[in-house]
Amino acid sequence: MSSTFHDKSNAFLKEESRSNWHDKALWYVREKRDNAMSDVPDWEKLRTAASRIKAHTLTHLDAYLLDFEAAAAANGVRVHWAKDATEHNRAIYEILKGHEVTKVVKSKSMLTEECGLNPYLEARGVEVIDTDLGERIIQLKGEPPSHIVLPAIHITKEEVSEIFHSAWGTQQGNSDPKYLTLAARASLREDFMTSGAAITGVNFAIAETGEVVVCTNEGNADLGTHIHPLQIHSMGIEKLIPRRTDLGVFTRLLARSATGQPITVYTSHFQRPKPGGEMHIVIVDNGRSRRLGEETFWSSLKCIRCGACINTCPIYRRSGGHSYGHTIPGPIGSILAPDTDLRRYSQLPFASTLCGSCSEVCPVQIDIHNQLYRWRQVAVGQGQVSGLKSRMMRIAGKILANPRWYRRVMSMMRWGMKWLPASWLHHRWNAWAKGRSMPQIKNKNDE
Ligand code: SF4
Repeated sequence: MSSTFHDKSNAFLKEESRSNWHDKALWYVREKRDNAMSDVPDWEKLRTAASRIKAHTLTHLDAYLLDFEAAAAANGVRVHWAKDATEHNRAIYEILKGHEVTKVVKSKSMLTEECGLNPYLEARGVEVIDTDLGERIIQLKGEPPSHIVLPAIHITKEEVSEIFHSAWGTQQGNSDPKYLTLAARASLREDFMTSGAAITGVNFAIAETGEVVVCTNEGNADLGTHIHPLQIHSMGIEKLIPRRTDLGVFTRLLARSATGQPITVYTSHFQRPKPGGEMHIVIVDNGRSRRLGEETFWSSLKCIRCGACINTCPIYRRSGGHSYGHTIPGPIGSILAPDTDLRRYSQLPFASTLCGSCSEVCPVQIDIHNQLYRWRQVAVGQGQVSGLKSRMMRIAGKILANPRWYRRVMSMMRWGMKWLPASWLHHRWNAWAKGRSMPQIKNKNDE
């Protein structure tokens, strides 16, 4: 990595006011999730049901994928298979080229981010307009999303005002959210009307019926797909669920876990092309089938991308999403990223307190903190942590394994914390002590 997680999170923390409100904003969403969850008496049963449905589907994925393809084809949908990001991007480009489309509207899709679809299409002369408001803001700013549900959570409304002013000539300094939203709406309406096709992500794909389900709050996926005869849906192989009756389990969990809403404003089912239109579904692997074969990490494929683990994570809230350097940040990103490139992302499993809050809130019961811990072992085993850190850990392990040594070291530390000056701990070579204050050590006889 050219710039490490530590460097980037340090830079984010330097702007204290931003990191403070970022932390508070996400904790607010986490609390909304808690309130929404407490309104559902069977919440834990729902989580268990969702986890089981996903486990069942993933362990029979070959059959369900073929069922889905057959049902979709019977509905008149054209299904494309893509083994990696390049095949995914090429498939979409070929469809657009076949219709001479040079401008396309896209609703939020982490998969197209993962595959780098925007730059791929733009390099071939196709303009891509992201139509989710947060996505459009970061697109204009030239940045990737910093959160999977709230992509522009790191940006203030004053900055949005500046971005819109530069892009569209809105009033300088006017950061009224209603004014900015109306400006975005006017610009996006124009884009919807002047583009030639719509691309969406997929939240769920139903094997029984061959339909895809897209959940949004802004209705932008619906607007694009209804205006344009040509619609393209991009989905990972893990989005499948067996039956339509399974869907209710997930829609009850998804919005509550993501933003504390009872349900997303739009839950749209796309089953067949419009009369005279074309509907394409691109099904992407991009490393997922390999992960499915991994004993410890396969269950990360259950993820429904709600972002709850991200909102609750004390490290993410303080570090900001861009520090992770991966399409998906936070705890779930830290178990997905090393699987794609352990050398590049070996720091991420260590960007956690292992408090377990991520696993606690996960609506599909992924044991995220255990997987983070396991990835640390893999990283150490493959020599992907610094020599100094490995040596320190080996020494710590020896001390912790020997009660006599442990007591001796603890008593030395107590003495040191009581009598040595603070500068002994707080100096520029001790990164660990930065921002930390040590507790006052009391005498044994003190109250
Ligand atoms: S791992 Fe769980 S909590 Fe995190 S985004 Fe995925 S489904 Fe949501």
